[in-house]
Amino acid sequence: MRLRHIVAATALLGLLGVPAHADEARDISRDTLPVNGGWAAADGGTTGGSTADDAHVFTVRNRSELVRALDGGSATPKIIRIAGTIDANTDDDGDRLSCADYATDGYSLKKYLAAYDPRTWGSAKPSGPQEQARQESAAKQAERVELAVGSNTTIVGLGDSKNTAVLKGGSLQLKGADNVIIRNLELRDAYDCFPVWQPNSGGLGDWKTAYDNIWLRGATHVWIDHVTVSDKGHPDEKEPTYFARNYLRHDGLLDITNASDLITVSWSRFADHDKAMLIGNGDTATGDRGKLRVTLHHNEFESVVQRAPRVRFGQVHLYNNRYVVPADGHDYRYSIGVGTESAIYAENNAFTTPGHIEVADLVKSWNGTAFHQSGTLWGSPRTESGGGYRVDLLAIHNAYNSGSERDLTADVGWTPTLHGEIDSAKAADREVARGAGAGRIS
Ligand code: CA
Repeated sequence: MRLRHIVAATALLGLLGVPAHADEARDISRDTLPVNGGWAAADGGTTGGSTADDAHVFTVRNRSELVRALDGGSATPKIIRIAGTIDANTDDDGDRLSCADYATDGYSLKKYLAAYDPRTWGSAKPSGPQEQARQESAAKQAERVELAVGSNTTIVGLGDSKNTAVLKGGSLQLKGADNVIIRNLELRDAYDCFPVWQPNSGGLGDWKTAYDNIWLRGATHVWIDHVTVSDKGHPDEKEPTYFARNYLRHDGLLDITNASDLITVSWSRFADHDKAMLIGNGDTATGDRGKLRVTLHHNEFESVVQRAPRVRFGQVHLYNNRYVVPADGHDYRYSIGVGTESAIYAENNAFTTPGHIEVADLVKSWNGTAFHQSGTLWGSPRTESGGGYRVDLLAIHNAYNSGSERDLTADVGWTPTLHGEIDSAKAADREVARGAGAGRIS
């Protein structure tokens, strides 16, 4: 009798739409991007899978369920709700796969290093049995960790601040997809078991890794909001050095390439990583001209070495972001990369850096010609006594540029119109510290 009462009460609460617990998070599954929500709001806006019918609303708890819900990247409107932690490096039974499980055709790191040691192999591109075995092994991992996301999809985590939903080791790939929303999700450690040695990269050679946590490739109308993306659990700085170069395991946190367009990234946290965000991946990719329009606002970049972001071609509105370089950030290189034909419009961003970092270090030009900035705060904006200093990144860049770079002009040829209220850098710094990242949608 009592049980029946409880069932009836629960059903009634369900009908009234009253959450079972007062502190339960609001259901964000069918949210759409606000009309002034940055570039992704242009040309029809971004609605993701909000129109999905009930048969296409999935709650997934492991890789197999996630793969079934993604449906090979189909365009059917769908909502995928991730519960708990999903590890992409698992087999169809949910058992964990290690790098050794993927290794095939006699691949071993020891043999690979012996085969392509520059002192004996020279500077030719690796080829032969070990490189072939590496490729076969890498393909086995890619088949597990690369997850195609199709058009008209919303992916949301179900967690809250105490218990965020996590996708570990996976690479969400939006290839040619239109109208996608990803929110309230932590993406961790997109770890490459089989980096390739590139003897001619950057003069000294370098290890090249395969997976971005999120890769937008020819994708349009994408809203990424309240995600946390990092190398958590597996920092590259703990990796060994081979051939005098750090054996990197991670590529980008979020890369936006191949004429992707109309993208908004908001209230997200990018942390503990080397190359965070690449917008445009080649100076000769002229198909990116007029595309790569991206809004980045209220994001936090903490303990990021470089590319926050690095931009080619795109009109990028960068406002109210918070940058934190930790006291031990000795490998820090730069934050904002002004690349070929880029048009970055930066407003009211806040930087906190340790003493050895100069303001001139914050912006680096890679063949860029223009950069707009205003309202930049540098120092420790959150301490009442320190307060931070208003700095002009453009003037300082031009005053201190190394000589190999041209001076940048302030005229980037456009003025952003699609955006919400722009806070002072000081207010943004405080709000972003409190509100950016997964588990923090209020
Ligand atoms: Ca990449």
